[in-house]
This record gives sequence, structure tokens and C-alpha cells, in this order.
Amino acid sequence: MTASTPMKLASHAAPAPPSFGVEAVRADFPILDQKIHGHPLAFLDNAASSQRPRAVIDEIARFDSNDYANIHRGVHELSQRATKAYEDARDKVQRFINARSRKEIILVRGTTEAINLVASSFGRPALHLGDEVVLTTMEHHSNIVPWQMVCRERGAVLRVVEINDRGELDLDHLEKLLGPRTKLLTLVHVSNALGTINPAKEIVAMAHARGIPVLLDGAQAVPHMRIDVQDLDCDFYAFSSHKMFGPTGVGVLYGKEKLLDTMPPYQGGGDMISVVTFEKTFYNALPAKFEAGTPNITGVVGLGAAIDYLEQLDWDGAMAHEYELLRYGTERLAEIPEVTMVGTAAAKASVMSFLIEGIHPHDVGTILDRHGVAVRAGHHCAQPVMQRFAIPATTRASLAFYNNRDDVDALVRAVRDTIEVFK
Ligand code: PMP
Repeated sequence: MTASTPMKLASHAAPAPPSFGVEAVRADFPILDQKIHGHPLAFLDNAASSQRPRAVIDEIARFDSNDYANIHRGVHELSQRATKAYEDARDKVQRFINARSRKEIILVRGTTEAINLVASSFGRPALHLGDEVVLTTMEHHSNIVPWQMVCRERGAVLRVVEINDRGELDLDHLEKLLGPRTKLLTLVHVSNALGTINPAKEIVAMAHARGIPVLLDGAQAVPHMRIDVQDLDCDFYAFSSHKMFGPTGVGVLYGKEKLLDTMPPYQGGGDMISVVTFEKTFYNALPAKFEAGTPNITGVVGLGAAIDYLEQLDWDGAMAHEYELLRYGTERLAEIPEVTMVGTAAAKASVMSFLIEGIHPHDVGTILDRHGVAVRAGHHCAQPVMQRFAIPATTRASLAFYNNRDDVDALVRAVRDTIEVFK
């Protein structure tokens, strides 16, 4: 499965039982083996942040215990080791998403910073009075607010693509909105609130046919499908380490070299310059031009370790297992008359967002926690999605490949118990 061919959520067909060894994989994640309020932990909050395998935890401790120093320019042994580990991680990211060049991998704080970087360095110079940025109803706030800010500053406007009742993009509407004033199309690859997998490759082609560049917010896609940025042909791709089994405080902006080359730096400071005088500063070459100041060195090394972990995993097996679990969970929840799913797209990943009749999602989340089931309740930083469905919030269970049927059964049992409590 590649980014261009997301696996469909086949709700009725019975898929072959996955051969993926989930129990062995669970043993790689020490945090999963514990009880919460007397129940085995069912960790179903992966869309907010996923857990880290022992390999990542150990590599961070090893690096900090043996090799840590500030990177670049250091002549001493530790600085050279740390620089190598940091730059090796960049190479791993490049290979992982199949970028053409390591210069296209900008290491940032997370998806939020990656999008802000594009809004500032690409958006600000590109946008003029009356220009348009097209985005969708299902964006995370971090792919709305930076564009609102830069549009307000430049006199440009946002155009918003509608979604249907299943939580799928209206592609006809999208096509209509792409016009001569559109300077960028920016959209989520996989929705965190609904789980919808957008047909990113087709959408990129649609925009490119009109000469419009595309930013994909891949925060929720990278943990659930293979990403090939050359195959997608997107101009920018943003994602976060902490949602893909790596540490927090690290993320990636992929950008096509020819675009990054033309963009001004995002921040000024150390590392992003080659020569500084009070009269004039010469910027460093890519990717350093966009990496001002001391970065999250250990975090980047941890991201590299997470990629190493994912590379040795039976990825296709893991994904088949996860999709089968999503199908199973969706069906089990649908058997409960009081439950309504929010987001029933044909192509989905990871997310089961739902409502229980007469019970506020925050109460659901709290009771589920008493059963050892960790979910999220709220608007999921996607308030326009909630407005579209005229609801204040949902309860969201989100899967990773290390979840098993016990986790989903615990969720379904806890939901049934919650309904009993409120009867
Ligand atoms: N986009 C999406 C789709 C997300 O799910 C998230 C995190 N919930 C973000 C962007 C922001 O990611 P981060 O907080 O890691 O910057």
C-alpha cells in the first residue's frame, strides 16, 4: 500500500485474518503493560500522541549518556558524534518518505511549526490583496489559524472546501474553488477528528493542473500508511514525530527543493547563516537555512530511532492488522443503538469518533478512563468539523498497530457500561 492507494475500510467483506504478531509487538512498548484503575490499559488515544517502543527509549538514553553535545561546527569528538547522529536521522527521514534530497527535509518542532513555516516563508511573499488559500472543513486548527493570520496580514482570503455527511471531501467543490487567485491548496491527508483518508495524489494532480502548489498535513497519515512524497508529488508535507512512535518536540517539513530555495528563512539566528555582518547576512544553504538555533538534538535522534523501528516492522502486516481492528471496532460500536459514529468515510484510518445519545463526550471519556480505556473527548482541535455536524464534541478512540482486540473489546464493554450508568 502506498500513499496513493490507501486501503479502504471494507465494512462488509471479511478480510483474511492478519498474520501480524501483535502480541510480540506490544512487548516492544513497555508502557502498555500496566493496569489503570485496576483494569489492563487499553490505550486508544494514539491520534493525540502514540507511545514509544523500547528501542526509542533506549536510544535516547544511550545517546544522552554517551554522545550528547551541541551539533555542527564543534571540533571535539562528542560534537562530531552528535552531529553525525542528527544528520543520520535526517537521512532516515528522507528515505522513509522517499524525498529526492536530504536538503528537502527541514527538522522542526512538529506539524504546527512546519505549517507555520510554510505560511510565513511561502505564504507571506506569495499572497497579495484578493489572493486565495484553499483549505478544507476538516482541517486541524494548526492548518487553519496560520493561514488566517497570514491572509489577514496580506489581504488574502480563505476558501473552504465542504465535506459530506460521511466526512468525505466534496471533490467537485474543491475543483470549483481552485481558481486563478488560488496561491496554495492546503489540506489534511488523514483527518484527526474523522479518520477520513483524503485522495491526496488525485487532489495534488488536480491542483497542479492549474499550477497551484499543495501542502499536505500528514500528522495522522504517517503512522498509518506508507508515505512517498515523490509519488504524491505534493509540494510540502508536514508531520510530527510524537504521532509516529518518536519523541515530542520534533517534526518534519518536507518541501520541494526548488520551492524551499526561493523562500526566505523562517527565523533568524545561529546555524541558518553563512556570513553575518551588520551590513548584510548571507543565508546558509538548505536545509540549514530553515533551522535557526540549537534544535531538539536528542529528539531528532529519537525520531531516527523510531524510523529504524518502523523499518524493521512487518509494515504491511501491521497496517492490515490495524485496518482489520478498525473494521472490527466500528462494527462492534455500530451494534450499540445509542452510539452514532461521526465520520463514516469509505476510506478511513485509525479513528472511531462517536456520540452516545444523551451523554456528553467528556462524561464518556471520564467513565471510560475508570475502565482503563484511554480515549479523547472534545473538539479534537477541529472545531469546524464539529460545527459542520452541529455537535459540541465527540469521544474519539484512535488505534495504532500495537492495539489488539482486547483493547477494542474493553472499549465496547466500557461504552455499554457508560450507557447503563446513565440509564
Ligand atoms: N494536524 C493534525 C491532523 C493533527 O492531528 C495534529 C495533532 N493533533 C496536528 C496537525 C498538530 O500536530 P502537533 O501538535 O504535533 O504540531
